[in-house]
Amino acid sequence: MGRLTEVAPGVLVATSTYAMTTSTVVAGPPGSCLLVDPAVTVADLAALAGELADLGLRPAVAWSTHPHWDHVLWSAGLGDAPRYAAPAAVTLLETEREAMLGQLGQSAPGHDLELAGRMQALDGAAIPWDGPEARLIVHDGHAPGHGAVFLPDSGVLLAGDMCSDVEIPLLDTVAKDPLGDYRTGLERLASLPGVRHVVPGHGHAGDAAELRRRLSLDAAYLDAVSAGRPYQDPRLTPDSPEWMRSMHESQVRYFLA
Ligand SMILES: [Zn+2]
Repeated sequence: MGRLTEVAPGVLVATSTYAMTTSTVVAGPPGSCLLVDPAVTVADLAALAGELADLGLRPAVAWSTHPHWDHVLWSAGLGDAPRYAAPAAVTLLETEREAMLGQLGQSAPGHDLELAGRMQALDGAAIPWDGPEARLIVHDGHAPGHGAVFLPDSGVLLAGDMCSDVEIPLLDTVAKDPLGDYRTGLERLASLPGVRHVVPGHGHAGDAAELRRRLSLDAAYLDAVSAGRPYQDPRLTPDSPEWMRSMHESQVRYFLA
């Protein structure tokens, strides 16, 4: 886990060596913070808890952007803040809990499983807390109840698993309309005014121009793959992880079927 780095005033991001997964900290009233998607290994969470303690920040509230195992983690060292996710995300975490824990155990063993995926459903326009406004943009692209967070004061968009510089769009292919859901999500993010920084769930933070570039890349990928056209996404190379190349192949097959 890399150190927490300030991407905008009061917004700090740490990046795990595991799939470049990001954890975001938003500083609030003295001594408190909002923690989004703490990830991903047991050692990462211990390092994160240690850094927060060094900074004198205690999580007052937490948000999980979506119900995939690498975004719903927690450790006792992070405290007992209320942890929220969108209602559809919480429903999936409850119905698919065993599968989620299975993936977690395989990919990042050793976590306290009692704490994994224990979110409360939050059906609101913003995360309830005393810190900087944290607006929610909930849609079903990538996963049910995918909740990006926009911080209007600092212009930071926490995009969840979209708008990455290292991952292609990954569709929720068991949904009724995976393509429509994903496009709706991208449109919602594209129409947000005032975004100056984007932090993806996996990859590097970028500025407003970089967000535009990634939105175009994501749209181009979806247009080509859904039309059955061959397409070379710059994020998909022979060096890409095996799981991503096979996800791409299965998305190609999904649209050919
Ligand atoms: Zn995901």
